[in-house]
Amino acid sequence: MTRKVYCEKCSGEIKYRDDLTTARLILEVVPYHNECYAQDLKSAKTVFLENQPINGTSGNFVAASSLFFMILTLLLFDGSQRFISILFLIPLLYRIYSYVVYERVLLE
Ligand SMILES: [Zn+2]
Repeated sequence: MTRKVYCEKCSGEIKYRDDLTTARLILEVVPYHNECYAQDLKSAKTVFLENQPINGTSGNFVAASSLFFMILTLLLFDGSQRFISILFLIPLLYRIYSYVVYERVLLE
């Protein structure tokens, strides 16, 4: 059972994890070749395309920070104020989704 990942811009297959950039396009997570992502960021699509990739070093940093702030808000706030922590859960869920759906199926 091998799933294939196709680039949002050129529709070509993405074979390696190193060549994959996932990003948020409105509410959806879309896969790109690294180069195609850079090109789409310069196009009109950039209005809807998040310029912060979900995967890679910066994505991992965002996810780790979100986790930290989520735990922090749960510790510092009581009752209904704890709902603030949900805001930090969103980037974390996107990170997990990107990993499970795209990164996991690609070769290292
Ligand atoms: Zn491409």
